[in-house]
Amino acid sequence: MKLNIGVIKGDGIGPEIVAEAMKVLNKTGQVYGHEMNYTQILMGGASIDAHGIPLTDEAVSQARASDAVLMGSIGGDAKTSPWYKLEPSRRPEAGLLKIRKALNLFANLRPAVLYDELKGACPLKEEITQGGFDMMIMRELTGGLYFGERSTEEADGILTARDTLTYNEEEIRRIAKRGFDIAMKRRKKVTSVDKANVLDSSRLWRKIVEEVAAEYPGVELEHMLVDNCAMQLVKDPGQFDVILTENMFGDILSDEASMVTGSIGMLASASLNESRFGLYEPSGGSAPDIAGKGIANPIATILSAAMMLKFSFDLDKEAEAIEKAVGQVLKDGYRTIDIMSDGKTQIGTREMGDKICAYIS
Ligand code: NAD
Repeated sequence: MKLNIGVIKGDGIGPEIVAEAMKVLNKTGQVYGHEMNYTQILMGGASIDAHGIPLTDEAVSQARASDAVLMGSIGGDAKTSPWYKLEPSRRPEAGLLKIRKALNLFANLRPAVLYDELKGACPLKEEITQGGFDMMIMRELTGGLYFGERSTEEADGILTARDTLTYNEEEIRRIAKRGFDIAMKRRKKVTSVDKANVLDSSRLWRKIVEEVAAEYPGVELEHMLVDNCAMQLVKDPGQFDVILTENMFGDILSDEASMVTGSIGMLASASLNESRFGLYEPSGGSAPDIAGKGIANPIATILSAAMMLKFSFDLDKEAEAIEKAVGQVLKDGYRTIDIMSDGKTQIGTREMGDKICAYIS
């Protein structure tokens, strides 16, 4: 199979971690007989330096022409980088918002997995994490409170601010379908999170999710109120498979879930649209404090590349080979600095990529 992959190396540690993910993809391609065809796309600070803006129309077209895009992280140090002297719409992060909108990336996926070997980094008690956990948070990304009408008005000397939370049934249906499709590739359980005891938008959410669930009789559906879900994530994270939720709840819950895993350098993510296209990137930022030192953890980007194989190319076996290789390297005791602990062997970004490649055969 020929895979047309757009690559946004980005800023800071971006180029270093993306290089390792490409190395792992190339090795996977060699082993399983796929051809990787890369197109380099500029975004963020690198695009500002070259073109004066964080994302050109040409870059959007290049992304659109790709089957999927693999991205490092963008942005720099807000205090020292000249990029942050520009007006907000010309700063690196504006490129990210623009590409999400241009490509209609409405579904955000963030896995939160506790590796046995990294249990020490998990802030939860051992008795809670004994069985481990492996969940996928599926967050609606283009609707809800963050995209609703807003205003601030003053009347009789009193300021009043207003934000609106709107969802229509089509927006709910398309993300719910995505959530159930993904559950079919996993342990076949969906926990739909809402606030249906208070919000009309949540009551509609629940109704449409139930309609979609009827099309997936093999998938178990449960509903959970968001406040209970926040509690359950630290009380019994092992109960979750796919958590399906709207934009703001997902924003908060996905950060909570990632915290309980331990390290930011391990967290992959994907943003998908209605077709098979997706933008795959690590959850962390461009880490300007460690850029260029060769010590960044490339695993989140490598696992994002594995998600790309699974969700944009349906190459499940190949994705699992990468995930297994990551697990094996951790089992062997190799760690980058961010996940280092006593008795383990500290290695750099490139060595981590090499070791993961060595297990893909
Ligand atoms: P950050 O995630 O870049 O860094 C937070 C801390 O985590 C730092 O100490 C960093 O060294 C560490 N860290 C992050 N990724 C790591 C990795 N792979 N290996 C080892 N350590 C890692 O967050 P920040 O410092 O708040 O933001 C830096 C820049 O990144 C800002 O410009 C911000 O806007 C941008 N950012 C971009 C994205 C994105 O591209 N999607 C996401 C978040 C932040």
